[in-house]
Amino acid sequence: MLGLMMTYPLNISQILEHANLIHGDKHVYTLLPSGKLYTYTYAELYHRVNQLANAMTALGICRGDRVATYASNTYQHLELYCAVPLMGAVVHPLNVRLSPNQLSKIVNEADDKLIIVDGQFSEQFAKLLQEIDCKHIVHFNNNSKLTFNDNSIQYEQFITEADSEYGFEIQDENSAMALCYTSGTDGKPKGVLYTHRSMCLHTLAANQADVFGITESDVVMPVVPMFHAMGWGLPYAAMFAGADIVLHGNNIHRIVDLIAETGVTVAAGVPTVWARLYPALQKRKREISSLHRLIVGGEPMPSTLIEGYEKELGIEVRHAWGMTEMSPTGTFCTLRKTHQKLPDTEKWNIKAMQGRPIPGVQIRIVDENSAELPWDGKTIGELQVRSPWTACSYYKTKSSTEHFTKDGWLRTGDLATINKEGYMHIVDRAKAIIRSGGESISPNAIQRGLLTHPQVVEAAVIGVADEKWGERPIAVVVISSDTVENTSEVLKQHLANEFPKFWIPDRFIIVDEIPKTGVEKIDKNAIIKMIATEFNISSKG
Ligand code: AMP
Repeated sequence: MLGLMMTYPLNISQILEHANLIHGDKHVYTLLPSGKLYTYTYAELYHRVNQLANAMTALGICRGDRVATYASNTYQHLELYCAVPLMGAVVHPLNVRLSPNQLSKIVNEADDKLIIVDGQFSEQFAKLLQEIDCKHIVHFNNNSKLTFNDNSIQYEQFITEADSEYGFEIQDENSAMALCYTSGTDGKPKGVLYTHRSMCLHTLAANQADVFGITESDVVMPVVPMFHAMGWGLPYAAMFAGADIVLHGNNIHRIVDLIAETGVTVAAGVPTVWARLYPALQKRKREISSLHRLIVGGEPMPSTLIEGYEKELGIEVRHAWGMTEMSPTGTFCTLRKTHQKLPDTEKWNIKAMQGRPIPGVQIRIVDENSAELPWDGKTIGELQVRSPWTACSYYKTKSSTEHFTKDGWLRTGDLATINKEGYMHIVDRAKAIIRSGGESISPNAIQRGLLTHPQVVEAAVIGVADEKWGERPIAVVVISSDTVENTSEVLKQHLANEFPKFWIPDRFIIVDEIPKTGVEKIDKNAIIKMIATEFNISSKG
């Protein structure tokens, strides 16, 4: 028997229409390359989104076409996030930090018909352009002399004369609306093709109180770039809730000013960014008092940093885990009522876990024979997930059991434990595990251990080839300037309190900075190259 409810297709226009009609006076702030803070309302955004859709239609962009963005977090990027899906096309944010060689493969596979370029990246885009075939280019904030090709046009000129009524109509909620490539830390980047339905459901789920918990009174700043897994869904979530949104325009060094100037209440980004910003935030504690919540993910957030933010700055840290494949939210770490009476250090240890599945997401851990493992907080297994906002296949890739199970779960490639309360803890990426003398060593665990030493600023642990043991761990660390001599011995001693002897890295290499990927995660491939060239050490390969 069928129910008697409206078959009302879920689509991104519901987010945009709601933002315009109910929250039309709320603000979008963008820090321009000139350093000026530009602001307009959701009503103005709505007007321009209609114009943009008309302009793209006039250019010949049709339903299903891919429109790439090569941009940082700006209001134009937000306009594209709305206009492209609403005309039935597919918005494809490109990671501006990838090399032209890496990106050209992605653009060529996606077959982007139009690329919208943020002018501050003109020079690097010009290099990419030599390796791709794209008919139409529109650029904004372009102060360089580069015009790219004969057809390229300036964004304002492109939209200004277009009609401001479009008439958005998406009937099939399963039609594609956005394409994001994974960061490719484990090999070739793979395309994840989101649907209107999956993105709307993700937005509703992400806005629950125990997840992003964004309300109309919030001022939300995604520090995470809008090209990393759709800015973690924050742009749509903020618009739907009617919160103001603050876009930093790639000015990471002005984040603290921006928080103070616009009264940011909720900000999101990877742990490395929050570690870097911590001293500046601490110095300007009073000016940034509006900030009450950090959403942190992409990599493990060390408990010492959680403690710093919560205890010293009074900012709640919500540690999340997700994947581009999951739109990206999978689990979120908030405390249960029963945890409230625990001592603070225990609370921070819980918060350093990746948390419980958000409503709508299912998780499980399995062994190498795909048998489900117990939720006892100890047994480690491969993490598998499913949800209405998780990919079931990759773009232009034949589905394989390497990534998806026969019974419809995504194989995450992460190793995890789950405790009886449903809190998941990422042990490591399966491929990162170091095998030494037949035993497993978790580089993530050693990294966490190193970060609890007060003089360690950043740490990464990788496996290197070893004749006797097969592999051995070595640590690459950034230490604070006041560190005394004999660092290796001090750090060995420090780790010896927590880890078995064979886990202690054979060598500690002190560096000024740890290489990061395009999404600010520790770049183990770059570290491997660095130690091979500078120290003549070969990795497990
Ligand atoms: P991406 O698709 O680039 O967002 O990368 C997803 C991967 O990042 C996951 O499979 C994890 O390996 C890792 N990851 C994401 N969030 C966390 C976290 N909070 N702690 C540890 N690893 C994480």
